[in-house]
Amino acid sequence: MITNELADFIWINGKSVSWNESQVHILTHSLHYSAAVFEGIRAYQGKIFKLKEHTDRLLRSAQYMGIEVHYTAEQINEATENLIAKNRLFDAYIRPLIWRGAESMNIYTPKLSNNIMIAAVPSRNEFTTKLKLNIGKWRKPNPLAMPPQAKSSTHYGMQVVCQRDALQQGYDDSLILDDEGFVAECTVANVFFGKGNKLVTPIADRFLNGITRQTVMTMAANLGFAVEESRISLEDLANYDYCFITGTAREIGGIVSISLNDVKELSFPDPEKKVELLQAEFAELVGK
Ligand code: PMP
Repeated sequence: MITNELADFIWINGKSVSWNESQVHILTHSLHYSAAVFEGIRAYQGKIFKLKEHTDRLLRSAQYMGIEVHYTAEQINEATENLIAKNRLFDAYIRPLIWRGAESMNIYTPKLSNNIMIAAVPSRNEFTTKLKLNIGKWRKPNPLAMPPQAKSSTHYGMQVVCQRDALQQGYDDSLILDDEGFVAECTVANVFFGKGNKLVTPIADRFLNGITRQTVMTMAANLGFAVEESRISLEDLANYDYCFITGTAREIGGIVSISLNDVKELSFPDPEKKVELLQAEFAELVGK
């Protein structure tokens, strides 16, 4: 029995189920063949940030992975709002997931059911700072091998391995390269580099174009930053004096160093405290 104190209910296929009873069969297809699609969403003070954008991406991800969803975006949004209220959550992390059921071990058969659940738990409140990165041992797949904009569990196997290696080696996260060796993103966050009022971020055609990334790009431009998207090599990184990552869970996380290998480490002292400035503006925007 999995017990928990975090929330009372999980929404599964249209029903509210108690946390401890929300279980799946061991032959769940998505567990074996790694094609469940999901989202990470946040509520700040009871108000969900960009729910519509997240649900639309969830449905696009399901479409990429050939999973039919029997609920409309509006129904999913309503269920999400109700779940937060029913669990009396205020600052929360919300996880919708769509998966294939346990009706068959075949690689595919139309007999497989399509399921959806939404869970929500209380979330951490402080921004993260002083994060240390290494370079992930594994790279992003070529975009012809897997659709980069599908937020599918398919993509996360090696991200988990990179995160595990990073923690074991004393880092907080890994900077992951694309298949050509350019900087792509972190395990569950996008990345930005800056100098003065200039920001650069990798072109999001080989990894997930995060909703936070897009939000921060617009926000920074409104604050007078010049924001550029380009291919970034590891050699380019020495040109920047601050670095941060963006994502729903990570929000805006300040990076202090990137270890290129056992001997060479780049540091990002952020002399003008630009990351703090962006974090403050972001807090205002999301209602933190
Ligand atoms: N890249 C990956 C691989 C992620 O898992 C996430 C988190 N969803 C992000 C980037 C950031 O996306 P978002 O800002 O939409 O949360």
